[in-house]
Amino acid sequence: MRRFWLAGFCALMMLILAAPAWAASLRVEPKSLALGQPALVRLCLQGNPKVVRAELNGRETALALGKDGCWYGAVAPDLQDKTGKTVVRVKADGKQVAAARIKLFRRDRGARKLTVDPKYLKLSPEALERYKRDREQMQKVFGSFTPEGQWHTAFMLPLDSKVVSLFGRRSFVNGKERSPHGGVDLRGSTGTPVPAAADGTVALVIDAYFSGNTVLIDHGQGVITRYLHLSQALVKTGQKVKKGEIIGKVGATGRVTGPHLDFGVKLAGARVDPQDWVALSQVLAQHLGE
Ligand SMILES: [Zn+2]
Repeated sequence: MRRFWLAGFCALMMLILAAPAWAASLRVEPKSLALGQPALVRLCLQGNPKVVRAELNGRETALALGKDGCWYGAVAPDLQDKTGKTVVRVKADGKQVAAARIKLFRRDRGARKLTVDPKYLKLSPEALERYKRDREQMQKVFGSFTPEGQWHTAFMLPLDSKVVSLFGRRSFVNGKERSPHGGVDLRGSTGTPVPAAADGTVALVIDAYFSGNTVLIDHGQGVITRYLHLSQALVKTGQKVKKGEIIGKVGATGRVTGPHLDFGVKLAGARVDPQDWVALSQVLAQHLGE
């Protein structure tokens, strides 16, 4: 009788051990993620799906086929998503093939106090109208998804200068708490040339109420970079740019206390830490071979 159970147990174990041979294996790194921190997603599976996509908190990103035959990409929670447990799901040709539990936490990046012209706190009716128009145009870009892209080229920070304000810092403007910092502030004096962080297409050039002269670049597959407070934009909407190509000049336009470049990255609409993104894009570039 005991032997019978043992044989059954062994058969069951063999089944369990054999399962991964046809199941997909998913790795999400790191498993514990700060809000705004992108995670590397790696999926190895049999078969030749056409489209592989990962999803986190309702935002979908595309994975690309790597040199080793596995699929690579990234997911990220937004800076103001909820903390706690959540799930990364991966679909191949529309069918879920794997899922991984991850944990989200808030990183303490300190606080900053800004004193600005009161017109940026109490908006006149005209300013409010303008702000709404700006926001609508920018949201349209952030919500867009261009399938073809340079997703797998390594990004760079546009300026090789000191980070004067980290991503995710709490912001108090004239004593009132506002949204946390959605980009990194890079030191730069007015007129310093600003290069594109990677290849892409200029999605919007706008003189916005809060962010001043602003350029948005679409890098494809849900990755968009933004360059704020420019003294001058040197590109036009629709123009293709190469990594390193000058797209504008550092300035102090919009709600600022002095000249600097506010550089931001969005992944599928989530605000992502640009320093983390640059590091992760280098890892992706190694796997994807560009
Ligand atoms: Zn900033």
